[in-house]
Amino acid sequence: MSLRTHSLAAALAATATLALPAATGAAQLMTPATTQPATTTASLAAMLTAQNAAQGLDANHGVAFVRQHPGAQGTQVTRFDHTYKGVRIFGADTVVVTDDAGKALSVSVSERGQNLGKGAANRIGPSTSDFDVTPVLSTKAAIDAALRTLQAGAANAVHQTPPTAELIIYPIVKTERLATALTKSDADLNALDVRDVVESYELAYLVHTRMHVGKKPLFYDTVVSARDGHVLNQWSMLQTVTGVGNSQYNGVVAINTTLVKGSYQMIDASRGTGGTYGAMAITNANHGTSSGNVYSNATNTWGDGKQYIAGGSTTNANGQTAAVNALWGLMNTYDMLKGTLGWLSLDGHNTATYIAAHVNTAYDNAYYSDTCKCMFIGDGSSFYSLGSIDVIGHEMGHGVTAATSNLTYSGESGGLNESSSDINGEMVEAYARAGGTGPTIPASGNDWVMGKEISKTGTPLRFLFKPSKDGSSPDAWSTSLKRLDVHYSSGPNNRMYYFLAQGSNAAKTSDFYSKYLVKKPAAMTGIGSDKAYRIWFKAATTKFTASTNYADARAKVMLAAQELYGVNSKEHKAVQRAYAAINVGADIDE
Ligand SMILES: [Zn+2]
Repeated sequence: MSLRTHSLAAALAATATLALPAATGAAQLMTPATTQPATTTASLAAMLTAQNAAQGLDANHGVAFVRQHPGAQGTQVTRFDHTYKGVRIFGADTVVVTDDAGKALSVSVSERGQNLGKGAANRIGPSTSDFDVTPVLSTKAAIDAALRTLQAGAANAVHQTPPTAELIIYPIVKTERLATALTKSDADLNALDVRDVVESYELAYLVHTRMHVGKKPLFYDTVVSARDGHVLNQWSMLQTVTGVGNSQYNGVVAINTTLVKGSYQMIDASRGTGGTYGAMAITNANHGTSSGNVYSNATNTWGDGKQYIAGGSTTNANGQTAAVNALWGLMNTYDMLKGTLGWLSLDGHNTATYIAAHVNTAYDNAYYSDTCKCMFIGDGSSFYSLGSIDVIGHEMGHGVTAATSNLTYSGESGGLNESSSDINGEMVEAYARAGGTGPTIPASGNDWVMGKEISKTGTPLRFLFKPSKDGSSPDAWSTSLKRLDVHYSSGPNNRMYYFLAQGSNAAKTSDFYSKYLVKKPAAMTGIGSDKAYRIWFKAATTKFTASTNYADARAKVMLAAQELYGVNSKEHKAVQRAYAAINVGADIDE
């Protein structure tokens, strides 16, 4: 069973006058021009489930509303999980874009439940005709099973939030070659030569554990069989910037604060509403593991512009500098998203977020936490303080992804999640460097490397234009990509984005050369950061699903380019070339 089935698109298109354009290569997308207005999530859900019979799905198949956010030009973007007997099917979801009249403009589906209740993939469970959703294990037993694997190396771990276990149906996925690629060598395989298929299903628990070992966060998601407690999959949910491994960086900057009862507080009342502090805020974790109190000061002059002195006060001028870094980064991230895209805060609903500075002691990382929907910044030890503009833009990018596609943070989807954050970090950097205002992403101003400023050696963490310069990330897609740490499997998509924005170089010795670009001109032409970002953001927030992989991303980014700039536009061709440059799909002449 293909994960990217045509069936829903075909079924919906059959009821509409406008059929799916055959040549887009985007299996999940369709444009049903005459679909009935669907103004509520309930009526959208009914529209989706009404297609089940046509796809051969029985009445046990359903959808469950997940979230909705505003899209461009009055559209609404609504996401549904797929369910079977009311149990969520992991990685199976649908995203629907509707216009202001409630009419569906596009539907993207990640179909992984197709064989539940029938077929060879349905074999797990006592019955072959009916997938049993009654767990053998209790939720407590599942949590214990997850903890046993984690605490082997962390006996002193303490829970930051109580662990949870959600009953799910977990598709066991394998990668298989298409018939046309059976004789190719492994090294010659292109991303479009293979597809993911569901081999079988397992009733399981998705266990969330958010712990600390000493002061270090240990955030994991674990998939545990609900039949016998064996661990099916596990990945870190610490959405960090590093892989395994006056503002300080921006001179004197203006920051927005609030005067409360004679003292200034690092609360920016002009950006965001609600959330924990009612507006954007910076707090002082003061070397702890929780966010701590909002920064306050007797005067409205903050920081000394110097690296935090280890062991020193976190509240004096030197200690405030990390907070200044954080607030300036947060302001610019917010303004870039709102100014260029009309996207409000991280979730599109303008919910305020916050950053906690000085987390842990000499902590060499920064991370986004899906529990508080906020960010933590360490002071660094082998790094300088981790609050550079690209790092903050990166972590806030995780917040946008979490509120939209929620790309699963392992395998190829995890690499795309990381890449989307790197892209966001670079675009925030470009915007901030040009003054942090206006409706477009500047053509230049960012350095296309992640974390150069926080590096004591001057060597960046990651190179978007040539990821292999870090010694760990590949420059192109291969079948082994999905087994890498997500901070490395992001590499090819980062390179794709660089080429899309800036173009490539035809000289074989150049860092900007790709051997996969074989059409004319030999150096592909970039379309600039502003267009590249609009295309990427549209695809990522309105078309990607949680299990989108590189091949699926190509199809959806190409479709976003078509929708924004036209079929066969230079932007559309540039996306195709940029993905071809990383061994995802074929190259074309410009
Ligand atoms: Zn990250």
